[in-house]
Amino acid sequence: MTAALLDQFAPARHAPQRQFPVQEDSLQIGGVALSRLAERVGRTPFYAYERSHIASRVALLRSELPAGVHLHYALKANPMPAVAQLLATLVDGFDVASAGEMKTALDTGMAPHSISFAGPGKRASELRSAVAAGVLIHLESEEEMNRVLAAGDLLGITPRVAVRVNPDFELKQAGMKMAGGARQFGVDAEKVPAMLRRMARLGLDFYGFHLFCGAQNLSAAAICEAQHACVVLGLELAEHAPSPVRVLNIGGGFGVPYFPGERPLDLHAVAQGLHPLVELLRSEWTDTRLVLELGRYLVAEAGLYVCRVIERKLSHGQVFLVTDGGMHHHLAASGNFGQVLRKNYPVAIGNRIAGDARETVTVVGPLCTPLDLLADRMELARAEPGDLVVVFQSGAYGLTASPTAFLGHPAPLEVLV
Ligand SMILES: *Cc1c(COP(=O)(O)O)cnc(C)c1O
Repeated sequence: MTAALLDQFAPARHAPQRQFPVQEDSLQIGGVALSRLAERVGRTPFYAYERSHIASRVALLRSELPAGVHLHYALKANPMPAVAQLLATLVDGFDVASAGEMKTALDTGMAPHSISFAGPGKRASELRSAVAAGVLIHLESEEEMNRVLAAGDLLGITPRVAVRVNPDFELKQAGMKMAGGARQFGVDAEKVPAMLRRMARLGLDFYGFHLFCGAQNLSAAAICEAQHACVVLGLELAEHAPSPVRVLNIGGGFGVPYFPGERPLDLHAVAQGLHPLVELLRSEWTDTRLVLELGRYLVAEAGLYVCRVIERKLSHGQVFLVTDGGMHHHLAASGNFGQVLRKNYPVAIGNRIAGDARETVTVVGPLCTPLDLLADRMELARAEPGDLVVVFQSGAYGLTASPTAFLGHPAPLEVLV
């Protein structure tokens, strides 16, 4: 049977991981064999991100999306400075969610007016930094608008602002919903007109709206529906705006397949849905930037987490590969970052992909907790101490989304190859 047919008849398998070529049964990352890369890095565990994969992902988006759609990168997904530096040359803007991320973004040379700062609970010092930097502040509440105004008065600078709106609809089938109903994010849509009327009398430079409905969505139809609803809501709210809408950020939420049975997002279908929306916006507003902000879709598939087998252990007939990496470095792969039922990420023995023999093993880390699991009863090539376990789809929400201080082991290194 062909690979495609096999995929069809085995819906509970992981989507094929073909982003890194295999030569002599070893993964190649950026053209370097995994064992050699491990020597170059100097120690395990580490994260490796591939430049060419990130660049080709952005190129694919550019070729599919309607011309004129602005692509932003949400640094939260992977704020490694070298990754941010690379993306600064590829995308049109950055979205940050803390003063720390703002510093990383500004350090790349990205123009301040192409950086937006969202997130609830921005502290007074963060707001002052943002106003001083000249980035676009996404207001998460009317209270925050007052604090931004105070920061602007103090510095004698007119803050650039957009209103983050909490719409009445949800992003269906999103792995993580972030809008609709009671939320800590954004201003409830019904309260936005009054806030905009007040803003007209204040010293704030209004840019537009930000809507972010949710993350990790693999359904093109659900994304199209949400994007359409966001544009319609943006057009409605614009009637109350103190000045023309210059930016309409409709979020993203593009997902990547992590778990068995998941299939890649149909990007072409998402792009087809966007074309009429771009036309609609052009007919209503001539100078408005339509922004998509993507995090994991740009970087997740370009990244691997690599750790080394320390010991093969047999317990009640089950083989455990005990490694030097685990949940303290990669919380998401351990199943403890928002999963309800634990499922395995795609995992392989990176220096012997097919192997001479196969066996079903459980891959664990060195922490004294049963939560420290990287793969639960998966079929992998038979591995020995010294072999390298890789976790695919690890370029986003890896290191910075993990409790690295837990149990006091060293933090992993990161390389961009
Ligand atoms: C987390 C977040 C993103 C990025 O989400 P991904 O799922 O990584 O694409 C984008 N925008 C906002 C406002 C976010 O909070």
